[in-house]
Amino acid sequence: MDIVVSGIRSTGNLHLGNYFGAIRNFVRMQHEHHCYFFIADYHSLTTHPTPSDLHGNVKQVLSEYLACGIDPEKATVFLQSDVPEVPELYLLLNMNAYVGELERTASFKEKVRKQPENVNAGLLTYPVLMAADIIIHRANKVPVGKDQEQHLEMTRRFARRFNNLYKVDYFPEPEPYNFGEALIRIPGLDGTGKMGKSEGNGIFLSDEPSEIRKKVMRAVTDSGPEHPGQEKSEPVQNLFTLMQVVSEKETLDYFEDHYNRCTIRYGEMKKQLAEDMIRLTGPIRERIKEIKADDAYLRKVVMAGAARARESASATLRDVREIIGFKPF
Ligand code: AMP
Repeated sequence: MDIVVSGIRSTGNLHLGNYFGAIRNFVRMQHEHHCYFFIADYHSLTTHPTPSDLHGNVKQVLSEYLACGIDPEKATVFLQSDVPEVPELYLLLNMNAYVGELERTASFKEKVRKQPENVNAGLLTYPVLMAADIIIHRANKVPVGKDQEQHLEMTRRFARRFNNLYKVDYFPEPEPYNFGEALIRIPGLDGTGKMGKSEGNGIFLSDEPSEIRKKVMRAVTDSGPEHPGQEKSEPVQNLFTLMQVVSEKETLDYFEDHYNRCTIRYGEMKKQLAEDMIRLTGPIRERIKEIKADDAYLRKVVMAGAARARESASATLRDVREIIGFKPF
């Protein structure tokens, strides 16, 4: 049985990128493996140093996890900040993480560009905290989207470095996992590469149907193909990629065919895409509302999750301290 760990930052509501890149796989994996799924509330502080509603955001994402079908009886569902062993391992791993390699991380460079007024040390060491989250349970599989590939490569490097440094074979090198398929990247509606929480280009699981229709109808396209078989522009390819994940195969084939024959009407395609998104998210949105209203249930889930996560994390910490050479007097 594999040990699986993955998490999502509590910086805002979950979008279709989170759903297809992560959550859908969490739900599929929970039946077969030993799974730990957490809400990365410490990580959210790197970009939102003074979040207006930290608790509210955590509650929303937790409700969304559960509404998508993550079963807390099967998987360990917990909050990152409920496991103090994580920051302890993060501290220890930081001693063997080099500023140069952290500065070269693509996501760090991007954040330096995006938030030059707040290039904090937490942002720099984001991959170290992520590595601590994963290896603290000695995970060997991590269901993530393509956007996390580089971070996971760093996690593998930190695990390997620890093993080499202390001449042990303690941490497994965790593999990114997507059921044998290529890692997925869900594009945004604005013609760019990635759907994200802060990009303003996303469809959220909690969006009302009218909102989804409005956003999809506004999505960027182009002036249409001019000759049969013409290569798609990025914004149009993005619409097809979204359709590939939310719609039936016949629907996708229908629009591919019209594209190839230059008879496509983007308005018709967007209408269909919006309806298919609504069909997918509708039942989830209803469940989010129900679960969010049940504070007693949410409390029970996080308390049980924290206890199970700490059991696994503290066993690792005990070993790590011994390996490094800390000894009781
Ligand atoms: P984040 O929202 O950055 O905390 O990401 C949480 C999880 O969702 C990670 O496993 C990401 O790989 C995944 N994810 C986020 N955005 C996308 C996207 N646009 N396409 C695929 N996966 C994504």
